[in-house]
Amino acid sequence: MVTLMNGSEVAPVLRQIVGQPRATEILSASVAKAVHAYLFIGPAGSGKLLAAQSFAAALLCELGGCGDCASCHDAQLGLHPDITVFEREGASITVDEAHAISLVAQRSPNVSTHQVLILTDFHLVGAAAPALLKTIEEPPPSTIFIVIADALPASLVTISSRCVLVPFHSLRPELIAEVLRAEGIEEDLASSVANASLGDLDRARLLVSDQGFRLRQSQWIEAPQHLDGTGASVAKIVTQLTASVDEIVNVLRDRQSRELERAVELSKLTGERSLRGRKAIEDRHKREQRRVRTDELRAGLATLISVYLAKLSSPQLPTRRVQALTEACQAIDEAAKYLKRNPNEILLLQKLFLQLGDLAS
Ligand SMILES: [Zn+2]
Repeated sequence: MVTLMNGSEVAPVLRQIVGQPRATEILSASVAKAVHAYLFIGPAGSGKLLAAQSFAAALLCELGGCGDCASCHDAQLGLHPDITVFEREGASITVDEAHAISLVAQRSPNVSTHQVLILTDFHLVGAAAPALLKTIEEPPPSTIFIVIADALPASLVTISSRCVLVPFHSLRPELIAEVLRAEGIEEDLASSVANASLGDLDRARLLVSDQGFRLRQSQWIEAPQHLDGTGASVAKIVTQLTASVDEIVNVLRDRQSRELERAVELSKLTGERSLRGRKAIEDRHKREQRRVRTDELRAGLATLISVYLAKLSSPQLPTRRVQALTEACQAIDEAAKYLKRNPNEILLLQKLFLQLGDLAS
């Protein structure tokens, strides 16, 4: 049994929220008396979306999140007709997208007493914020908003003041390792995967089932040794690294096709001819693949920076060398920041390794 600090029991669907005691406490207390809007705030990979889906399931379940009824099942498969997840199309949320959200917010629920709208990436709301303020402030009584953001930029401050704040933080590697060990993963693998997980339990679970994980990590560690100042060496390294990113995306694809098969089986059991919501599942799978790609590159760049930081810590380096290594770290850091803007990853890496090659020579 999972209990809160105050001794009350956590609803089964909310038990999927790992390592976020404060968020779990606020959400558990809210299920019975929900307000119109919540803001889930915390770093990428801290499990906000999964928590939002779990909380939405709890809000729509007649038993407060039993995990076992048709409503909970639909919610967990991402097929509940009264839960809508909004994701932006471009680099930020547009005014048109804000209007579309407002329109859906005015609808009545299909099958439940309420509908839940989950708005993702709202740290990127920018100029679209005013178009949504009124809707989030005063939605129809049957609409509940869960707004998700990695940070609180100025554009989000007014919206945030109309919401209940639910804080999330990155999971510590030790906690991720502990969860993995409890799931039967051996000590060594659990801790190295936890360290490469970027504080993201989902990513850690994916890495565990990925045989190529250690090999990929060593490719990033060894990459600087293969730089000889030529474009050819850069091209070779980048081809190798991006091919290994494809590997983990393939591991994810396997897992996703098993999930789809299970959903098809389940819908056959309930007498349906074809899987309702297949397109929605496939779209979500594509988004997950993109996300895993970016995460893998971020983790690779973090490994790469640790190589240069280790060199920097060696004693009695000449000033010129210290400067070159510092510049290398800055260049990697820049590349990692730029990654958030969905660039062409091959060009990004080529540019970075050309810079690193110049600095090393
Ligand atoms: Zn239920």
